[in-house]
Parts: sequence; structure tokens; C-alpha cells
Amino acid sequence: MNVLLIERGEYPGSKNVMGGVLYRKMMEDVIPEFWKEAPLERPIVEQRFMMMDKESAVTVGYKGMEWGQEPYNNFTVLRAKFDQWFAGKAVEQGALLVNETVVLECIVENGKVVGVRTDRPDGDLYADVVVLADGVNSLLAKSLGFHKEFRPDEVALATMEIIKLDKKTIEDRFNLEENQGTTIELFGDATKGILGTGFLYTNKDTLSLGVGSLLSGLIKHKIKPYELLEYVKNHPMIRPYIAGGEPVEYLAHMIPEGGYKSMPKVAGNGVLVVGDAAQLVNAIHREGSNLAMKSGQFAAEAVLLAKERDDYSEATLNHYKTRLMSSFVGQDMKKYKDSTHHFDKFPQYFDKYIPMVNKAASQMFTVDGSSKWEKQKKIWRDVGTAGEKFKLARDAYRAWKVMK
Ligand SMILES: Cc1cc2nc3c(=O)[nH]c(=O)nc-3n(C[C@H](O)[C@H](O)[C@H](O)COP(=O)(O)OP(=O)(O)OC[C@H]3O[C@@H](n4cnc5c(N)ncnc54)[C@H](O)[C@@H]3O)c2cc1C
Repeated sequence: MNVLLIERGEYPGSKNVMGGVLYRKMMEDVIPEFWKEAPLERPIVEQRFMMMDKESAVTVGYKGMEWGQEPYNNFTVLRAKFDQWFAGKAVEQGALLVNETVVLECIVENGKVVGVRTDRPDGDLYADVVVLADGVNSLLAKSLGFHKEFRPDEVALATMEIIKLDKKTIEDRFNLEENQGTTIELFGDATKGILGTGFLYTNKDTLSLGVGSLLSGLIKHKIKPYELLEYVKNHPMIRPYIAGGEPVEYLAHMIPEGGYKSMPKVAGNGVLVVGDAAQLVNAIHREGSNLAMKSGQFAAEAVLLAKERDDYSEATLNHYKTRLMSSFVGQDMKKYKDSTHHFDKFPQYFDKYIPMVNKAASQMFTVDGSSKWEKQKKIWRDVGTAGEKFKLARDAYRAWKVMK
């Protein structure tokens, strides 16, 4: 097949933003044993989850040496480096990469997408099929009427910094050996209690620190995204990890978080939509790159089938949608279809229960001469009235229901 890859940035990776966790399995399905040559930062051997209050945090996590050995579980990457290498692999296989070129619109003839109009002189290009992989906003899918303007409660805005720090200092601070990495997901006070998350990931000689919230939350609380990042950087639970580090890059990007209910039409006559453009992000598990890769792979399979049949109609290309929705991608999108909306509607999970868990932990672990029975009773009393206890039980049940 003749494949043309169009990128508006100076090079692939120049416009892409990611906290940085790349999942081994989906990448390996595309390029076996990629870790032997890809520019990766660190294999992750530890994943922590920090539920933060203003001056405390309850942390849970898992560290396993099996993740530090081949074939590994996942890795941190810096997209500016990784994407260049990845696109290079496509070029090695015969794809033609054209950078610094913006696709302005799809060319539609007789109800079928037949190519794209670019911002280059004589920039119309014709193709049997166009795969739209233009990211979260997907103006191209929108112009085809595949989706409407997204609402502020369907999209998160994240800001992040890459902070330079000596390699040895990173390993000491995070209790790591060489070629081992840690990810820490941050909840609660990281976003000042509004729905969203933060992250702190270890790279070779930098840290990636970021925070993101639904646009609706930022608007409602009148918080600017960079204020949240400054807040996290100065938080007493985070400050010591980044102390002495020098910010070398500042990035901001949107994340599609509307889930299954926000997915656009993904196949039409002569056109397919993949990755963030198809809203394929599992916000609960911070997965996006792997869903993008898998959807790209399914799209390629559908195109091969269409070529075999010499039929690029929606009917044949819909094979992509069938494959996508029956795979883990579609299944996970359905599983969490109500989760973002639920946590957005009921902010108490973030602004009330996380501080409550912190307070309970502090009481339980402070040795002050009272018995553990007394402590448990006090913690239970502090939950509040019978009505508030009922609400807590109801919210726990609701959370289980939207996540089960
Ligand atoms: C702060 C942050 C942290 C994240 N952390 C993680 C993580 O740890 N793990 C994970 O798996 N996912 C993570 N994600 C999600 C992940 O980054 C995305 O799901 C993934 O990048 C989607 O890939 P994509 O190719 O569909 O879109 P993008 O990576 O957005 O790529 C779209 C590309 O299309 C180009 N483009 C757009 N419009 C045009 C046009 N008109 N013409 C030409 N080119 C165009 C852009 O320049 C860009 O290169 C994170 C996202 C953010 C913002």
C-alpha cells in the first residue's frame, strides 16, 4: 500500500504531550522487542497512588522486580524523542512522512472522503482512504459531522513540566536502581479537590510532573491550569521530590475524558477515526497511547480488507468499528462509560472523602495513649450524623457501580 503520513509539527512528537507511560503490550504488537532499540526512559517497577490532603497523603502502591525485566510492563517515554523514532519505523516500512503540513479539511465527493486539502501550494492529495489521527479536538472529524463541539465536562486540560535532575538524585529519591522507574498518580488536593489527577514520573535524568482537570471544574472553580501546576510543585508531599530541579520544558494539552458516550462516528465512506480523535482515552487508568495504537492497528486491518475487496465504503470500513468495540478498547470504554460524569457530578469523592481518609489515617497512626478501639470509634463519629454515614455508604456503592 502507498501510505502518506501528514504531520503539522516540525517532526512527529513536536506537538504531542503525554505524562509519559507507554504500555509494552500494544507497542510490542506493532514492533516486537521494541525496547531493544526505542528511545525509552525507564521501565516502571513501581506504581504508587497518592491520595493527598493539604499537608498529608495516604499512599498505596506496588513494586515488583518482575517489571524490571524483559519483556517489562510499561515504560516512561518523552514523546518528542519517542515519536520521531516510531515514525522513522513507519518510514523504514515504506510510508512517506511529510512534516510541517496542516490538513485543512477532507475532500468529499459524492458523499465519500477522497482525500485531504493541505496548507501547501497545490496541496490537495487524493487517497482511497483517509485515517484521521488528528488528536483530541479532531476538527477534521467535526467538519465531517462525526461529532459536535465538545462540552467542558468532556475534556480535561493538563499542564506539565519536565524537570531536569541528576540521574543519581532521582534514583536516591525514588529508591530506584539503574534502569528502574516509578510512577506516582496524585489525587485529591493535587487538583485542589476538583475532579482530575496529577502525576509524577521518573525519566532517565528528568521528572515529568503534571496535573489536569476537567475544563468544567476549572471554569466552575475559576482556577487557571498553570496555577494548579504551581500549587502541586509547592505541595509539601511533592516539593522534596523535585527540589533543586530545573524546569526544561513546559507543556499543555487537552485530554478527551468524555468516554464512551462522547465517542464520535469512527467509520464513514473512505474515512476512519482513531486514537484521541475517536476520544479513546481510559481516564481512570490513564491509558490513551495504547488505545491509540490499537485503534490504528485495527484501522490498518480494515483498510487492508477494503483493498482486498476494492470497496472503501462505510459498510466495509465498519469492520474497524466491530474490531474496536469487541476488543479491550471498546470493552473498557463501555465499562467506564459513566465514571467521569459520576465523579464530576458528585465532587465529594475528591473534596470530602480523600481528606476524610487522610484524617482517619492520621488518627489511627498517631500514638497518643488511646486504644485502637477508641480511635476507630472516633473516626466513625467524625464521619458525621447518621444521614452523613448513609450518604458515605451510598456514595461507596455508587462508585463501585460505575467502576465495576
Ligand atoms: C498531560 C497528559 C498526560 C498523559 N499521560 C498518558 C500516559 O501516561 N499514558 C498514556 O497512554 N496516555 C497518556 N495521555 C494520553 C495520550 O497522550 C494520548 O491518548 C495519545 O497521545 C493519543 O495519540 P493520538 O495519536 O491519537 O493523538 P496525538 O498524540 O494528540 O497526535 C495527534 C497528531 O496529529 C497532528 N495533527 C493534528 N491536527 C493536524 C492537522 N490538521 N494536520 C496535520 N497534523 C495534525 C498533531 O500535530 C499530532 O502530532 C496523556 C495525555 C496528556 C495530555
